[in-house]
Amino acid sequence: MSRLVFGIDLGTTYSCVAQVDDYDRAVVLKNFEGKNTTPSVAYFGEETEVIGEEAKNLSVLEPERVVSFVKRSISTDDAYNKPTKFPRGLDPTEISAYILKKIVKDANDAGQYPEPIKDVVITCPAYFGTKERLRTKQAGIIAGLNVLAIINEPTAAAIAYGMKVKDEKIVMVYDLGGGTFDVTIIRVKGGTITVIATGGDHHLGGVDWDNALSEYILNQYNKEKGTSYSMDSDPHLKNTLSLLAEENKKRLSAKDTVNAVLTIEGASSRIELTRAIFDQLTEFRLEETVDKTNEVIRIAKQKGFDRIDEVLLVGGSSRMPQIKARIDAELGCDAKLTDPDECIAKGAAIYAMNEAYSQAMEEYAEGVRDEKPQSIGLSNQTRVVNVTSKTYGMGFTDENDKNKPKIFNMIFANTPLDGNCRASETFSTREDGQRGVTLPVYESDVANPETDKIIEPQMAVPMEEGEPHALQLSKYYPKGTPVEVVFEIDVEGILHVHGEVGTDSIDFEMKIKGVKDEKELIKSVAMLSKSNVQ
Ligand code: AMP
Repeated sequence: MSRLVFGIDLGTTYSCVAQVDDYDRAVVLKNFEGKNTTPSVAYFGEETEVIGEEAKNLSVLEPERVVSFVKRSISTDDAYNKPTKFPRGLDPTEISAYILKKIVKDANDAGQYPEPIKDVVITCPAYFGTKERLRTKQAGIIAGLNVLAIINEPTAAAIAYGMKVKDEKIVMVYDLGGGTFDVTIIRVKGGTITVIATGGDHHLGGVDWDNALSEYILNQYNKEKGTSYSMDSDPHLKNTLSLLAEENKKRLSAKDTVNAVLTIEGASSRIELTRAIFDQLTEFRLEETVDKTNEVIRIAKQKGFDRIDEVLLVGGSSRMPQIKARIDAELGCDAKLTDPDECIAKGAAIYAMNEAYSQAMEEYAEGVRDEKPQSIGLSNQTRVVNVTSKTYGMGFTDENDKNKPKIFNMIFANTPLDGNCRASETFSTREDGQRGVTLPVYESDVANPETDKIIEPQMAVPMEEGEPHALQLSKYYPKGTPVEVVFEIDVEGILHVHGEVGTDSIDFEMKIKGVKDEKELIKSVAMLSKSNVQ
């Protein structure tokens, strides 16, 4: 059995690759610069593309050519439209593919494997919907990888922390990264990890702590020099300050006092920064994370989970001492903090290894493989159960109010995708001898089955582009004939719809909007294959 399977944390600000080594330990593969994580930053020149540390540094000189935080826009169709050697602007999936290409290339160089890295498990936030997951997978395919699975980041973290308990454990994963904040409560039971509730703020992360510090440094500089420099009108100064602030923020995680040196137009100033000042400047951000955390705890409670046995802190920003101190105080716990910026990639690697082992065992059982695969020291198999991240409903019109279409929600966000994610409802035909019944499917972010069963159309988005599917009726049915509708979401997150009136029926799968089809995927693969990422 090949041990050449890898886990990839494709992060908003940093990405990381890990593998399970011959001693069954999950280890991170270093990048070209000798670091364990690579900035998820891309620079597009007219001829060259650069990813990582160098791209981040180039953001000071040519901010307009640098793309950061692309993961935040993975669900959008924003294109990067600056002049490059490509015939068109790159979309977020392709830019993510670039990042994957670079980190895999570096890992290949570090590992000196007999064959290039191919089989990977990539992580994504628990809140990612089907479209974002498919796009992440497609980024992997465009980068030339075979994506074994996309798993949730908090799940990967729990695996890395060795959550393989026999007894039930309720674990909260507090993940404060560079650009996003996620809190997820999961249940670990007999090797199965199920997401109970998830939430957070996708525009809150280490960069907000950097911004607060940037502002402070510039204010101190202006005070000392009697100047009035401003970041608003000067992207170069803004990027210089961001790099300076981030560097000093990290140092403040280990020391009480540090000195930042800021030079503007040849004039330098030394600015003393203390952890106490830093904590004060950023306290409001910390409190925002606490509020979000309490919100997720409330959702878990509503679902009947009113205790938390373990709190795991992940994401590079959890290294700031203020985080553990505040979370411990708020929840009366002793939150665990080990490897916060590597544990997700490591968990994904362990999961990938388990997948490879299970596959090999299956092949052996079926007689496809002669040799029994060598058992791996990762003791037990972990099964992962995801939950739906969106709510899915059917459009209908009310008997008494025909001009006002409404949405009847069938499957709510946070329902486990365990193979039994199914809901049915009976509607009725509106007229005698109706020729057909349209079945418009909507997705939304409402989440409360008690108050959001029926919602207005403007609260949701149609899942189909153009006309919705329709069930053609082949014979006469009187007004009020039952229309049976069944929604079923498979373990991959694909929604299957069944509609039935008398002996007529229709079945369709919800295609996810905005995901590349086969042809487009081939084009992207071809376009990126011409490029030698650095
Ligand atoms: P992630 O997206 O999980 O890789 O987290 C990246 C974020 O963690 C960035 O904002 C980093 O500046 C931040 N970070 C990394 N190391 C430290 C540290 N030692 N102290 C504070 N923040 C850190």
